[in-house]
Parts: sequence; C-alpha cells; structure tokens
Amino acid sequence: MSDDAQRWKSKYLESLEQQERLEGRWNERLDLLRRSLVRSSLAAEGSDKAVDQCMQELRDILRRDDIDEGLGKLLPRLEKAVLNSEQRRQERSEQSLGGLLQLTEQLLNLDPPQDVRKALKHFIRDIEERAGQPGQLSALLTDLGRLQQQTLSSLASHEAVRPGLLQRLFGGQANAPQTSAAPAPSSQAESDSPLDEQQLTSSPPPSTAPTTPTQASNSPAPSAADPDYALPELPEPGYSAVAEHINASLLGLLDELELPTHHLPQGEALRQRLQGGLNWYELVVVLDDLAVLILAVTDSGQREFASYLKQLNERLASFIGTLSEAHEGYSESIESARSFNQELREQVSGLQASVQTAVDLDSLKQALEARLDGLLDTVSEHQKLRDGREEEVSQRLQALTLKVAEMEQEAQSFRDHLEEQRQKALIDPLTGLANRAGWSERLELEVARWKRYGGELLLAVLDIDHFKRINDDYGHLAGDKVLKIIAGELNKRLRKTDFIARFGGEEFVLLIPSTPLDGGLQLLQTLREGIEQCPFHFRNQRVTITISAGLTAFAPEESPDQVFERADQALYRAKNGGRNRVELG
Ligand code: GH3
Ligand code: MG
Ligand code: MG
Repeated sequence: MSDDAQRWKSKYLESLEQQERLEGRWNERLDLLRRSLVRSSLAAEGSDKAVDQCMQELRDILRRDDIDEGLGKLLPRLEKAVLNSEQRRQERSEQSLGGLLQLTEQLLNLDPPQDVRKALKHFIRDIEERAGQPGQLSALLTDLGRLQQQTLSSLASHEAVRPGLLQRLFGGQANAPQTSAAPAPSSQAESDSPLDEQQLTSSPPPSTAPTTPTQASNSPAPSAADPDYALPELPEPGYSAVAEHINASLLGLLDELELPTHHLPQGEALRQRLQGGLNWYELVVVLDDLAVLILAVTDSGQREFASYLKQLNERLASFIGTLSEAHEGYSESIESARSFNQELREQVSGLQASVQTAVDLDSLKQALEARLDGLLDTVSEHQKLRDGREEEVSQRLQALTLKVAEMEQEAQSFRDHLEEQRQKALIDPLTGLANRAGWSERLELEVARWKRYGGELLLAVLDIDHFKRINDDYGHLAGDKVLKIIAGELNKRLRKTDFIARFGGEEFVLLIPSTPLDGGLQLLQTLREGIEQCPFHFRNQRVTITISAGLTAFAPEESPDQVFERADQALYRAKNGGRNRVELG
C-alpha cells in the first residue's frame, strides 16, 4: 500500500473513532435530557389539569423511539395549556388580592385605635406587591389574622365606651356585656323608661349658664342627675336594648285588648311569653300572634254589636207584641162594656115590661125581685171580668217597664263603650296628649264657645328646636323619650281649661281660652323656660333642649285655619330669629 493510501486509511479510522465518541456523548446527553424532562414533568404536575395531561403524554413520548414526531405534536398543545394555566393563576391571585383588601378595609371601618389603624393601612399598601410573589399568600393571611386580632381586642377594650360595636360586627349578638363606663342608676324605680338601666349617669350640680340648644354643653350634668331625664346611651341600640321597651309596649297593648272569652287562653299564653322576655326571632312570631288576637277582638266587637242589635230587635218585637195584646185587651174591654150595657138595657126593659104586665102586688114583687137578682148578677159578673182584665194589664205594664229599663241600661253601657273607644282614638299613644283628631274636636268646641260667649281665645304652635339632631346624636329611642318628657313638662304647666295636643312629629298646639295676649305670652315664656331647664343629660353631660313657639289671638270672623296659619308664621319667625324664643303673630 502506498504512503498515500496508508495516510487516507488512518484518517478514516480516526474519524470513525471520533464519530463513535460523538455518538456516545450524544446518547449520554439524550438520556440526560430525557431524565430531566421526566423529572420536570413530574414536578410541574398538580397546578393545572390540562398541563398535567400534557406532562403525562410527554413522559410517554420520552419512553418511545419516535420522540421527534411525538414532541412535534405535543408541544403546541402544551404551550397553549401552559398559557391558559398562567392566565387562570393570575385571575386567582387578583381575587385573593381583592378579598384581602376588602377584609382589611372592613377592619379599618371599625375605627380601631391609631396604632392598629396605621398597621392596617401599611398592610394595604404592601398587599399588591407581596401578592404577586410566589408563596406570599399564606404569609399575607397570617399577617392579616394578626391584625384582625389586634383590631378586635382593641375594640373589645373600647366596648365599654362605645357599646354596640362588637354587636354590630357580629350582627345580632346584642347581649354583649355592658361594662363599667356608665354606672348603674341609683334608683331605677323612679325611671319611666325601661332603657334607663344602661344609660344613667350621675353628675355634678346643675348649670344655669345658657347653652346651645340640643348639644351637650360643656357643663356636666347635675350630680344627683335625675334618671328621668337621662338620654339612652346607645346611638344605635341592639335589640337587647329595646327588647324591654318593646315587651312593655306589647304587654300594654295586650292589657288594653278586651279579648273574647274563647281567646283568653291565647292571650294568657302570649302574656307569659312576653313576660319571659323575647329575642329578635321570637318577636316576629309574637307580633304575628298579637295581630291574630287584635283581629279577633275587632271581629268579636263587631259580632257583639250585631248580636246586641239582634237582641234589641227581638225585644222591640216582644214590646210591640205586648202593646198589641194590651190593645186587644182594651178593645175586648170596650166590647164587654158594650155588651154589659146591652144586657143592662135588656134587664131594665124587662123590668118595665114586668111592671106593666103585673096584675097584683105580689106578682109584681116577685117579678121585680127576679129581675133585680138578674141585674145584680150581671153587674157583679162584669165587675169580676173587669178586675181580672185590669190585673192582667197592670202585670203586662209592669213587665214592659222592666224591659224598657233593661234596654236603657244596655244601651247606656254600649254608649259608654263606644265613647271610651272614641276617646282612645283621640289620644297620641307616645305622649298621652290629644292627637290631631282630638285637637280638631276640641278646637271646634272652643271656637263655638268663644263665638257664643266672646272673650279671648289664643292659639300657639310649639316646636322642639333641632330635634333631628337629638335623633341623629342619641338615637330615635332618646328622641321618643325627649318627646314624652317634653309633653309632660308642657302639660303640667297648663290650666285645666287650656288644651294641648301633639300636632305631629315634634310639634305641639295649644288653645288658651279666656286669656289676654300678654297673659298668653307670659305662659308661653314659662313653658319655654321650663323646657330649657329640664336637666336632660347624656353620659354625664348636660343636654339642653329648647322649644320655639308662635302665639296669636283669634280675631272676629276668622276661620281656625287662618289663625293657625298666623301662629305658624310666628313660629317660623321664632326659628329664624335664633330659636328658643316666642313670637307673636
Ligand atoms: P327645627 O329647629 O327647625 O324645628 O329643626 P328640627 O330638626 O327640629 O326639625 P325637622 O323638621 O328638620 O326634624 C324633625 C325631626 O323630628 C325629623 C323626624 O325624624 C323627627 N321625629 C318626628 N316624629 C318623631 C317621633 O315620634 N320620634 C322621634 N324620635 N323622632 C321624630
Ligand atoms: Mg323642630
Ligand atoms: Mg317641626
């Protein structure tokens, strides 16, 4: 073999060797690649169903020989599945982020103390950044749990000062204990509101300095603060705070109901349930039962009245029957008198005939005696008949008189009952004063009296100043209590002949007869000052409540509406003039 040929042969063998080495390396790498792909596919599993499916297929392909073809088909599907999975992961992360933000904001809304507030705000700023990082979600949740605990425990310690917050947070757990901030009243027996037990405060002596109407002044409430003037402490009381009030009102309503006998057991059962105290859920059922009883009472009232009318009808029928019997008796007695007359005539004419036909004295005597006997019999028989009839008529008359008396008594008790109902319909249940219907009735009466007898008649319209604020600041329950107290304060300063009514809302109307305008003005000023000096208090702070009023006198030929309008205009001026004043109209 030539040198050239030898050189080519060794070159060929060398490249063959290199080729074998390369193939070995290639197979090693392929094997490595396969193994790492299998491992990666196993690691990637569990995040998404579609991706998992692709991973399973990938492992199958890697075990086969036609890897190229298999991977060529799988890869586009895998790419799509991974993209979708990533999109879904992003959505879930945004949802979690929103939930975390919402929870944190709810905690902030509970108005926690400054330090907790700051931490919560810091957490809100962090959430977005941290939520994007893998594994941060559970860390965020742990942090939020800690913040929530801090918020709630700070609120729990504030609960004594701000009762009702935890109740609001936990919706309806209204029996959270009221702790020590507000001392219990010294005398609950004096209090007319069932809420007082939570609201009473004791405070220093009364201040006479003028204060802004309706706002808690800086002067503390009087030391032996009158519990009657205490405003309930809860701006939004939970059910437990009003339960007693509701129970008392419902019991009062139940007492007022005159239940028909067959409904008495239901009424008694309801009373026992009310006396045992109610919770929020039982209240609904009790209201339903009470409604049924009220309907039954209305129905029974109507039925009672209908049966009374039926009875009356029957009695009148028997009355008419007795009268017609008496009439018949009377006709019979006329008839019997007529026949008695006839008989007498016959007897007398027989007597005449006997006298004329008598031939001697003896026979005349005999005939006369016989006739006279007959006459006497007729007379005594008639007498007997008449006596019997008279007795019968007198008995009937007696029975009739009794019946009439009985009917009159029944009619009277019905009239009384109707009047009682009518009076009830004229009273405002909250204040116990006359309502608008009561006002209209009395106004008509007083105006008629004034027109007839002359003199003076005054009309005033009174309105509590800034009453809306009382409701807003202390709650509607406090508002109701103020209304009730003011009504009583006004009423107790009036004469018997004056008349006050609740015209609606926080507005009162007053009729003052036989009083000159300056006397009326004096009275109104006394009323105004009386209200201003009422020692209302809330959490140891004096609350001054005032009223404004417009007063005017009836002028001849004026309608009540015109007079009212003038008084109302005067009230309007009193309000515009700064309130807590009386203006003349
Ligand atoms: P002003 O001094 O101008 O009279 O202001 P005001 O806030 O007293 O008058 P306004 O008419 O704005 O508000 C009256 C409030 O009285 C609104 C209403 O909710 C409240 N109110 C009316 N009736 C009752 C009631 O029976 N109980 C309670 N708690 N509030 C009532
Ligand atoms: Mg008002
Ligand atoms: Mg008003």
